[in-house]
Amino acid sequence: MEITRCEAIPLASAVEGVEMTLGGGDREVGVQPVLVRVHTDGEHVGVGETLTYDASGAEGEAVARMAEALGSDLVGRDPRDPTAAWEAMYVDVKRSNAWKAMSALDEALWDIAGKAAGEPLYRLLGGEAGAVGAYATFPRRQSTDDLVASGAWLAETFESMKITVGADPAADRERVAAVAEGLPEGFGLSIDANTSYTVSEALRVGRTGERVGLEWFEEPIPHTDVEGQAELNRRLDVPIAAYQSHAPHYPAVDHLRANALEVYQPSAYLCGGVTGTRRVATLADAFGKRLVPHAFGPLVNYAATLHVASASPACDLIEFAVYDDSVDDPGEYVASPYVAGDPVRVVDGRVSPPDEPGVGVSLDSREVERLRLD
Ligand SMILES: [Mg+2]
Repeated sequence: MEITRCEAIPLASAVEGVEMTLGGGDREVGVQPVLVRVHTDGEHVGVGETLTYDASGAEGEAVARMAEALGSDLVGRDPRDPTAAWEAMYVDVKRSNAWKAMSALDEALWDIAGKAAGEPLYRLLGGEAGAVGAYATFPRRQSTDDLVASGAWLAETFESMKITVGADPAADRERVAAVAEGLPEGFGLSIDANTSYTVSEALRVGRTGERVGLEWFEEPIPHTDVEGQAELNRRLDVPIAAYQSHAPHYPAVDHLRANALEVYQPSAYLCGGVTGTRRVATLADAFGKRLVPHAFGPLVNYAATLHVASASPACDLIEFAVYDDSVDDPGEYVASPYVAGDPVRVVDGRVSPPDEPGVGVSLDSREVERLRLD
């Protein structure tokens, strides 16, 4: 089997903008998918995906064109050898930083490998290593009272929830304490500062986190400050989490040697796809750390991430974004109407990868055409 063509399609976001605190200020960001289809001379077409936050669509367009350029070098290769393709792409991407394009292509190759074998991807990765729970990311800016009310609603479906912090450490300490104290008994809480604090600010917020028993403190400071994260991890009882902003698996070595993180959160859409994420999972496992993948955004990439999560003994939990608080079931995946059927859903706090061959997600071509931006 040979790859004949790689096609990339930027799509409009299917959900409203998401509010994040970045760089000390609030910003609304988009959830813009970029789909990749890898065509072959056989019966199988592979599907992979990445995402951008640029609501204008310009970044999505640029990433799509980069994916097609990078993919043109894969023509003639056997798509059932994604590791060799990854190494070949890495020669270029370590200089061009086209990680999102590479990640989507890698996912599409694994999709073909699974389809050709007639097995869901997690079986090719070694099979199910254990159940995977889901925690809710709730990217809406709400008052403390409304967050507590949302938590009570989310607790019917999820194990725990995550809220964003990072604007004002004093106000964040009050809010974190109030939300933690208002949530149902046994329902976990974690916080995400999206790299916004200094070390001393993070220590102060982390002390509140210790008192209320936070599950983890995510990206407290700039993700490039390995020593700073190691200091926080040493001085705080709250586990420090990060890695969603890194690519590929090599920076994990520095974090592991420094004991900087307890929780590793690779983003499959950035970290080098299934191959890169799986390598982070293996490294984290070898050091006795927890894998809780960053899995924010559209469903093809989510499903690919879920296969890696399911096959990793270091993973017992994955993110699940609840974009809309007006839906009946917060465990329903609403971000990707261009995916046919309902292949992923959180039930009783657990989420499983699709059981169809490959990544296990089929596209609704009419919806893809309706949402495409190019
Ligand atoms: Mg995060």
